[in-house]
Amino acid sequence: MDRVVLLTMLFFVSSTNALPNSEVVPGGIALISVPSKNVTYSGQRVWVTETTNGLTAIIGIPLSARTGKHYVNAGDVKLSFEVIRKTYQEQHLTITNNRKVNPYSQDMDRIHRERAEMDAAFLTFNTDRLTDTSFELPVDGPMSSSFGLRRILNGQSRSPHSGMDIAAPEGTPVYAPSSGFVTATGDYFFNGNTILLDHGHSLVTMYCHLSEISVEIGEWVVKGQLIGLVGSTGRVTGPHLHWGVSLNNARVNPALFLNRP
Ligand code: ZN
Repeated sequence: MDRVVLLTMLFFVSSTNALPNSEVVPGGIALISVPSKNVTYSGQRVWVTETTNGLTAIIGIPLSARTGKHYVNAGDVKLSFEVIRKTYQEQHLTITNNRKVNPYSQDMDRIHRERAEMDAAFLTFNTDRLTDTSFELPVDGPMSSSFGLRRILNGQSRSPHSGMDIAAPEGTPVYAPSSGFVTATGDYFFNGNTILLDHGHSLVTMYCHLSEISVEIGEWVVKGQLIGLVGSTGRVTGPHLHWGVSLNNARVNPALFLNRP
C-alpha cells in the first residue's frame, strides 16, 4: 500500500513539473538553469522549479521588454539571456462605446483603483502548493485575437493585447485551466466582469468580459471547475473570453502553456 502511494506521488510531482514552452521574446518565457532557488528579474521574484537537469528558472518577459541582453540575479550569481525581436501585427478595432477608449475624467479614480487591485493580484508569490502548468483551454472556441497585437482603437494607439481572445457565444462555460486560488473578482471598467486565479509561484491567470462570475475571492478552484460564463462586459466588440497569463508580473503569451508534449 505504501509503495502504491509513493509511486502515485512521484507521478504527481513529475507531471506537475511540466514546463511551459520557451520563446525568448517580448511577451514570452525564458527557461534558464540556475544555481539557486533565490532568483529575481527586474526586481521581481522568479519561479524556480526542480527538473531532472537541476534547477530551472521560468521567467516571464514583459511585452515592453527591449531586445538584447537581460540579467537575472540567482543567489550570488548574475546570469544573462538574450531577448530576440518579435514583430507583432497591428490590429484596428472600432469600439462603439467611445468612453471605453477615452474615459471621462470621473472614470479615472475607478480605473486607478481597479488597476491597483489587479496589480496586487499579479504580484502575489505563493509557495504553499505545487504549481501545475499543464493548462487546458478555458473555453471551447476559436482564437479570435492573438496575444501581443499592437492595438489601434477608434484610430488611437493603445496598450498591446496582453492576452488571448477566444470567441464563444454569451453564456458559454469558462473552466479553470489549472487549480488555483481566486484572488480578485470585480466588474472592471475596461475588463468587465473579471476573475484572477493565483496558481502559485507568481503564475496568475485572468478571465475578462464575463457575463457571470461563479466563484468567490479566497475560494480554491480545481482544474476543470466552472468559474464563470462568457460575456461582453467592459471594452469589447462582441462576446468572447479574454484570457491573460502572468508570470513574475509580466503578461505572457497563454499559448506557451498549451499543446505541450
Ligand atoms: Zn483580449
